[in-house]
Amino acid sequence: MTFPALSALVRGAMNEPSRDTIFALSSGRPPAAIAVIRVAGPRARAALEALGVKVPEPRRVGFARLRDPASGEVIDEGLVLFFEGAKSEVGEDTAELQPHGGRAIIATLLAALGRVEGLRPAEAGEFTRRAFENGKLDLTAVEGLADLVMAETEGQRRQAYRQMRGALGKQADAWRERLIKALALVEARIDFSDESDVPENLLAPAGAIARELATEIAAALADGHRGERLREGMVVAIAGPPNAGKSTLLNRLARREAAIVSPYAGTTRDVIEVHLDLGGMPVTLLDTAGIRETDDPVEMEGVKRAQARAAEADLVLWVVDAREDSSVAAAADRRSDESGPLTWLVRNKIDLTQGGSRGVEDGGAAGGTDGREPPKEAAANGAARGAQNSDAFEGVGRGALRNNEQKDWSNDLLANVVTRGLRGTSESGVQCTEPEFSISATTGAGVSCLVSALERQAAELLSGSEPALVTRARHRRALEDALAALARATARPVADREDLLAEELRLAARALGRLTGRVDVEDVLDVIFSDFCIGK
Ligand code: GDP
Repeated sequence: MTFPALSALVRGAMNEPSRDTIFALSSGRPPAAIAVIRVAGPRARAALEALGVKVPEPRRVGFARLRDPASGEVIDEGLVLFFEGAKSEVGEDTAELQPHGGRAIIATLLAALGRVEGLRPAEAGEFTRRAFENGKLDLTAVEGLADLVMAETEGQRRQAYRQMRGALGKQADAWRERLIKALALVEARIDFSDESDVPENLLAPAGAIARELATEIAAALADGHRGERLREGMVVAIAGPPNAGKSTLLNRLARREAAIVSPYAGTTRDVIEVHLDLGGMPVTLLDTAGIRETDDPVEMEGVKRAQARAAEADLVLWVVDAREDSSVAAAADRRSDESGPLTWLVRNKIDLTQGGSRGVEDGGAAGGTDGREPPKEAAANGAARGAQNSDAFEGVGRGALRNNEQKDWSNDLLANVVTRGLRGTSESGVQCTEPEFSISATTGAGVSCLVSALERQAAELLSGSEPALVTRARHRRALEDALAALARATARPVADREDLLAEELRLAARALGRLTGRVDVEDVLDVIFSDFCIGK
């Protein structure tokens, strides 16, 4: 995909001999087996020669000793590649060195390159910025690339890759071309309105194009914000009264010490965030401070923040002590605003509800404080008493869990199954589907069931049958602007007035041009490239 207009604009700058040649370490932090150092700009070839490298044929791999330009001493050896101007990813001569990834090697090579005339270290995102300026990538592809590098889950990776390959950019270009056709019809009508042999009705086909485009753009916007949400992840706030076991649950879900678990009420004063990968879908868990009435100013601030975060979440897990009376309705009521997010009720501590409170007590020694390693007896008690077992099988059957999580959860499931087998108990009557769950955060009973439900919810919220085109608020704004202009264009009496119609079509085309970065690009470039790291 190229941008003729834009590349023509910057081609002058590119060919200027004064354009800097930039270099940077593009691979990750050393030490590593191999490093990749990139050099791009008019003196990329000269940079290789300065290091004593015989420049390989473009796009062919060479092997070379890399020498200090001053002393001639060999610094290291490795593969070397060279790409010519327009055929390179950056759109300018680009050299790539692949030495060993040792700190001293990299430092010495970078210092040596810095001493080559016309070379300077690249700024963050500068290679990609040049690719954009040289018409190699449009703005949505640049954003896709940034997201691809940052993607933490499969779902995010897929979406980012599609965006980098031009899912939205190509569509926006196609829409814009059709708009320009419509505009040409209207302008022909304006130009030749006095001449008698101009077809009378040029406005009708222009109007038809505008209506079609409006329908298509509206359909792309009606995606439940899936694309943006997939970038951010489904936000799940764990809320509820103090001491209900929120932090313990968060730790169990996160498999690490993310929140301090304490037997004293009100210890979690801030909002703690944990990122999970559930079946390829990103989920951000928020542990909110115990929401309760308090006079302590520090705690009040925590409560305020917790309420604000919980109100913005996609889902609230309202955790209560299973020994207390509660219901989903009551949980939703406890939240300050009625119109707030979806709420699931999680009755925790079921290990204490059945057959008396043998075993784990709140904060008692048996409970442990890390929420991860309950003593064997407590785990057995919890597993035997709870009805976690049906969900254990469900989790296994669905093949729901992946990667590291999978390992951990599978162990958990296995433990549950084994315990059940030994004890031979299978109790029913415990809620295991949304919106109500019964769990023990300490023993893990019922947790796999909750995780499966979270995974289903994330998949429903973040992925649809069609991949989303809109993945950023910036895209949405631009498409909404285009749609608004099209709506005005197709509304009477504008549709009958050539000059007004032309103006609205022009505005719509401009909005689409902003989306791909053909117009009005300066305002957004710095924001977009601030997401990039050096070497990209
Ligand atoms: P939070 O204030 O809601 O975050 O509650 P914590 O996670 O700090 O837990 C309060 C106390 O309850 C701690 O002593 C935990 O060990 C204990 N606890 C949490 N979950 C369970 C559970 O499922 N069973 C039992 N027996 N104790 C639990």
